[in-house]
Amino acid sequence: MTKGMTIIYPEYNGLYINLTNRCPCACTFCIRQRAADAEFDNVDTLWLEREPSTQEVIDAIKEESKTERFKSYKEFVFCGYGEPTEALDVLLEVASFLKANYTLPVRINTNGLCDLINKKPVAPLLAGKIDAVSISLNSSNPEIYEKTVRPVFKEKAFPALLSFAEQAKNYVPKVILSTVATTITKEDEEECTRLCERLGVTHRIRKFVALS
Ligand code: SF4
Repeated sequence: MTKGMTIIYPEYNGLYINLTNRCPCACTFCIRQRAADAEFDNVDTLWLEREPSTQEVIDAIKEESKTERFKSYKEFVFCGYGEPTEALDVLLEVASFLKANYTLPVRINTNGLCDLINKKPVAPLLAGKIDAVSISLNSSNPEIYEKTVRPVFKEKAFPALLSFAEQAKNYVPKVILSTVATTITKEDEEECTRLCERLGVTHRIRKFVALS
């Protein structure tokens, strides 16, 4: 696989920020499972030579802000080939920079395991810096979740995810737990909705996109 330094990239209506390739999970559907595939040779990907420093991320965003397309972005999103909260210090510093310099909302796409990764409660640290967290729930069933996500934290992962979601709503305006349509049963999907209602967060059912 060819590695580079793609720190930021446009996606949907947002400017996405790729901080790390580290992740404590090995989701069955994740592109990281295909790192050895030849399709990643000699193409621009989100595989990083090394993790960018805070200053490198800020410099990349400042450069991008000089372009015409910057005006089209509707949000900043921490999301790449890895779990953004693995690089928590950089994430928080960059988020502070974004809040101080731009008006666009800031979102984190996360597996929700940041408390276990960082060995401390992360939700309070997000206050005033992050407008939305989108957490991959995958299933309401802890066993199905563990089989799909294959976290190094094993059975501790699912309750930690739910606990983070519940905490996050006290510090972050919008907390979303997401599942992917057609990848779980209708019953499981409905149970996910009930679970989100109990937690007081939003359930978002994302459209299934097949990996080629
Ligand atoms: S949590 Fe995200 S980055 Fe990590 S293995 Fe799963 S899909 Fe990939």
